[in-house]
Amino acid sequence: MKEIVLEQREFFNSNQTKDVAFRIAQLKKLKSLIKENEKSFDEAIFTDFKKSAFDNFTCEMALVYHDLDEAIKNVKKWSAKKPVKTNLLNQPGKSYVVPEPLGVSLVIGAWNYPFQLSFAPVIAAMAAGNTVVLKPSELPQNTSRIMAQVVNENFDPAYFTVVEGGVAETTELLAQKFDKIFFTGSVPVGKIVYQAAAKNLTPVTLELGGKSPAIIEADCDLPITVKRLVWAKFLNAGQTCIAPDYILVQESIKDLFLQKMVEEIEKEKFDVTNGNYVQIINQRNTERLASMIDKEKVYSGGKVDIEKRIIQPTILSDVTWEDKIMQDEIFGPILPVLTYRDLSEAISQIKAHPRPLSCYIFTKNNRTKERVLNEISFGGGAVNEAIMHIANSSLPFGGVGNSGIGAYHGEAGFRTFSHYKSILEKPTWFEPSLKYFPHTKKKLNLIKWIMGQR
Ligand code: NAD
Repeated sequence: MKEIVLEQREFFNSNQTKDVAFRIAQLKKLKSLIKENEKSFDEAIFTDFKKSAFDNFTCEMALVYHDLDEAIKNVKKWSAKKPVKTNLLNQPGKSYVVPEPLGVSLVIGAWNYPFQLSFAPVIAAMAAGNTVVLKPSELPQNTSRIMAQVVNENFDPAYFTVVEGGVAETTELLAQKFDKIFFTGSVPVGKIVYQAAAKNLTPVTLELGGKSPAIIEADCDLPITVKRLVWAKFLNAGQTCIAPDYILVQESIKDLFLQKMVEEIEKEKFDVTNGNYVQIINQRNTERLASMIDKEKVYSGGKVDIEKRIIQPTILSDVTWEDKIMQDEIFGPILPVLTYRDLSEAISQIKAHPRPLSCYIFTKNNRTKERVLNEISFGGGAVNEAIMHIANSSLPFGGVGNSGIGAYHGEAGFRTFSHYKSILEKPTWFEPSLKYFPHTKKKLNLIKWIMGQR
């Protein structure tokens, strides 16, 4: 690991990555490699947890291609120096901000969208002119292997390399000095990464998880609300960081809401053979999820096949904050439904818990929407929709508080991997005596006047 980082540092110091044409060429190369290997990627992820080619394209590749195209198109503009105003005190002169790459970066990925969560930060790192060590999640092992193979056979490891492995390898990587660490994963491991980074004062981006609520108001458009929620919750069998973790439904529509949710689940025919459902990533997680299902509270679904790693889309009703399902992020196809009387109660329930990665509000009322957006702090979210905000790269994606630090996608990703160097440039033909000795009263008054403090 030490060697890899040393080699990358040497490469970075050669200044090759500072050249925008170099960055564009590497991004184009990555794009064509992904395109050439799309079929192998589909096969690997299907072997790992039965994710279909449809889901692999729509939820992973499409976002990666989009980020690639955007970076290729805009990297020149993003990396250009930006003139800013020069104040009177510094006249004559000019001021500007120059984005510069941070240096040698480490990207650590999670397993649930293994391509997207690995390549999207890599694209941002490359666009900003960094070298990259990528450590994908070890759980989807075939996907990790194919990513390592494609990258390591085609890129100079001094510029971009994939290191495969789990806790031991990541721990060894974290002991090295990087200039940037970008981590996607759980809150407890996020804290380990943050502590390791602190030893070298390495800046971090932490893309973490948590319990993301969806608030369902009585005045919502129920048919479309239910359709969008069912898709968002059971996509990838609920193994999505921004899936609605739980529902807060206004109590007057609870029964109707539950009935419509079940009808929609039946209509969707979630099944791996239909290509719209996946296995739980491993047996340990299947058992963890099974233990969260309180049989007394199952409203629909509830069947678990530990060996096949399949959990039926499940709705739990009459859930309270004391139930096991409400103690941790679920990260699976189980949807607890809680009720509230008025919006203030829903808001205070959410605010009594760590700030979520996402929050969704379903309502037709503008004031309700504004109250939720104004009063609850969360990473990002949507009004009358769920998950789809991630598909707009103009929206920086990231958490707040326990759900993360920093953001990426589009230009936000470029910024995440850049330092903005501030420069004042002065000509030498003029030098007023103002700041120099003797410090007369007249000079002081003039300085006060220039600074607008009289
Ligand atoms: P995880 O934290 O277990 O693992 C993430 C990465 O950290 C993996 O590459 C793993 O090898 C490594 N790792 C695990 N334990 C480690 C340790 N002790 N020391 C060093 N490295 C270690 O997370 P996961 O199970 O892969 O992913 C699920 C979590 O990630 C959920 O909480 C989910 O919400 C979150 N997530 C967040 C986002 C986001 O964009 N914010 C996206 C996907 C997943």
